[in-house]
Amino acid sequence: MKDCGDCALCCKLIEVKPLNKPADTWCQHCTKHSCRIWSERPEICKTYDCLWRTTPEMPEELRPSHCKVAFECHEPEKVAIAHVDKDRPEGWRKKPVIGVITKLLREKWTVWVMIGKDRHLLLPEGKKPEEAMKVTRAAHDRVMHGSA
Ligand code: SF4
Ligand code: SF4
Repeated sequence: MKDCGDCALCCKLIEVKPLNKPADTWCQHCTKHSCRIWSERPEICKTYDCLWRTTPEMPEELRPSHCKVAFECHEPEKVAIAHVDKDRPEGWRKKPVIGVITKLLREKWTVWVMIGKDRHLLLPEGKKPEEAMKVTRAAHDRVMHGSA
């Protein structure tokens, strides 16, 4: 697993409901280097699965602090969420990020692009929107409630 280094972007981009922290807003507990409440951080912070960190072959240019997009992947359901920094709202449409999205879609992942409160659903070939919603709900329930 890679080291976050100078990146703290997930603590800005993800919504943390138990802290009333909206998406794309720095968490009040983030120092930009560490979390002030690390041992008591909410479950959603504990389970956040950063694609860049967990994928050795993803290059430095895809480090979230560089490309301004943090990918979160839910493996069993094949649901990926691209959390996009509003400071660079179109960044996800360009290289190198669009390359990651294209690869995920080719591998049959459902991809959500989230920009603050805006969201775009990108479907892999052959997948219907209702199927995508079903797997997304399943991923959400598993993360939030520990159910399958
Ligand atoms: S977005 Fe990924 S690399 Fe950046 S701080 Fe979060 S877990 Fe670490
Ligand atoms: S509670 Fe900690 S880990 Fe969670 S968003 Fe805030 S700073 Fe980041």
